Amino acid sequence: MMEECRISYGDKRPDRVFTPGKLMCIGRNYAAHAAELGNAVPTSPMVFLKPASALIPSGATVIIPIASEDVHHEVELVCLIGKRGKNISEEDAMSHVAGFAVGLDMTARDIQQKAKEKGHPWSVAKGYDTFAPLGAFVPSASVADPQALEVTLEVNGEVRQHGHTSDMIFPVARLIAYCSTIFTLMPGDLLFTGTPEGVSAVTPGDSLQARITDLPSLEVRVSKQISIA
Ligand code: ZN
Repeated sequence: MMEECRISYGDKRPDRVFTPGKLMCIGRNYAAHAAELGNAVPTSPMVFLKPASALIPSGATVIIPIASEDVHHEVELVCLIGKRGKNISEEDAMSHVAGFAVGLDMTARDIQQKAKEKGHPWSVAKGYDTFAPLGAFVPSASVADPQALEVTLEVNGEVRQHGHTSDMIFPVARLIAYCSTIFTLMPGDLLFTGTPEGVSAVTPGDSLQARITDLPSLEVRVSKQISIA
């Protein structure tokens, strides 16, 4: 578990420390990823929530739960909300972002598929402990354009996902504005902005490295849950 999200400003000003709030996640925000799972491209952002208890830092281990045989990696740009807001305009949206990091939206694809068929929610498929690895944050001011970043995910040194945030269907500012029509955004909330194509299953022993231009990389290992502790 991760108790805090920290943004370091070096010598310029003291670190800002946030308690993680809600994890707002966007599904199908890259057309090629929607297509690879046989889904239509949405006409408005598709939002789901993940519990903060799923967060783990870089260097930790993703646990494949006993209930799943098919856990996928989804590499995503993550925004840390720094300022409270409701019904935020797109023009004002970026002023609510305190920092950016690389995140993984780990997904039990087999459980998600069954949920889709039954019309059940995705909370189980997306919400297991360790299913939200999160790298270190940089201040938002150090990212000139969040829609001009290269996104990469390697498994054991082999590239599986390679995309570009310019391919997002709904850009970050639009996502923040949209989410704020539903939720009051609070400092410490996290926005997972969706994944490009190339999602695939992980296996015990795998080493994942997630990278986005100018952000600290995120590295996790994978193991299988062997018993109910
Ligand atoms: Zn995702």
